[in-house]
Amino acid sequence: MGQLLIFIQQQDGIVSRVSLEALKGAQELAALLDHSLAGIVFGLETLPDELADIRLDEVLLVPAPELTVYSPEYYVAAMDEILSTESPALLIAGHTYQARDWLPRLARRRERPLISDCVGYHHNGELFWVRQIFQGKISTDVTTTPGLVIVSFQSGAFRSDDLGSGSPSVRTLDIDLSQVPSRVYPGERFQDAKSIVDLDRAERIVAVGRGIGEEENLALARELADTLEAGLGSSRPIIDYGWLPHDHQVGSSGQTVSPKLYLGVGLSGAIQHQVGMKNSNCIVAINKDPNAPIFEIADYGIVADLLEIVPRLTTVLKERQEK
Ligand SMILES: Cc1cc2nc3c(=O)[nH]c(=O)nc-3n(C[C@H](O)[C@H](O)[C@H](O)COP(=O)(O)OP(=O)(O)OC[C@H]3O[C@@H](n4cnc5c(N)ncnc54)[C@H](O)[C@@H]3O)c2cc1C
Repeated sequence: MGQLLIFIQQQDGIVSRVSLEALKGAQELAALLDHSLAGIVFGLETLPDELADIRLDEVLLVPAPELTVYSPEYYVAAMDEILSTESPALLIAGHTYQARDWLPRLARRRERPLISDCVGYHHNGELFWVRQIFQGKISTDVTTTPGLVIVSFQSGAFRSDDLGSGSPSVRTLDIDLSQVPSRVYPGERFQDAKSIVDLDRAERIVAVGRGIGEEENLALARELADTLEAGLGSSRPIIDYGWLPHDHQVGSSGQTVSPKLYLGVGLSGAIQHQVGMKNSNCIVAINKDPNAPIFEIADYGIVADLLEIVPRLTTVLKERQEK
């Protein structure tokens, strides 16, 4: 029986959500390939609570003091040693900011391919990794030569709400990193300012995308949101333009929301946006492009110019409220 490894990122003993999602993908793959599945946790002496009773064969804890805070050089050195002794078919990780930093270095060290930012896989005798390109407009299938493959899964690629049940055995690996030269020193951890706009609690959200065209047009979306008593969300370009503060951003690098109603206005539905809103109860999309990816997950779609439809929608809603 072969082996799969899943790297599980933690901070102060709390496992990252993206790692748990990648773990779900790893569980499915382990079952498909009939491989055992071992989790790897750096910098802890005891098993994090989230891993205590889920479906995993074993957890390898690496408590070396150099791994207590993130350092790419120590991470690469530790994983390099693990890969020399464990020889798994796959090393899987969530596509976190840290993973983006150290996995390419590891791939270079091991001279093995890294297939990053995957949104899934499929298997028809051969394993293909699904990656999106051109801002999610095209999905590509990637395969590699035989041997170890390092894979990172995009946030939201899998749902982590059911990780099965089990009681993984725990193995502690004593890896000596004291001789590893380190030129990267961690600074103060960046702390996001507390969100002022709490989209997380909003029952309705009107989210605006680049299709709004100009900053002045935001007033149309605001008025629609006010009429619906909804929060105002946005895709990332709107934040990058400086038209709304970052608190409004929905997606992989913004907030994750699941309102009763999500009304997306002039946004394409790129994967990085979808991961933050696809669990909404009812998704309505307004977009002038019938092939926009948002329509694939929308419950209701309106193919129209938002500059025409949004004011009309607001007017109709106001009229109904007045009746
Ligand atoms: C590491 C990383 C993290 C990211 N994190 C996030 C994130 O958290 N959130 C996020 O949203 N994005 C994120 N992105 C960016 C993401 O990849 C997309 O670029 C972004 O979501 C696109 O935003 P958009 O849909 O507003 O713009 P576009 O993709 O440009 O879509 C605009 C849409 O508006 C439509 N449109 C244009 N004019 C009109 C009109 N008059 N009426 C109706 N429809 C119209 C177009 O047909 C088009 O579909 C991230 C990217 C990276 C690389």
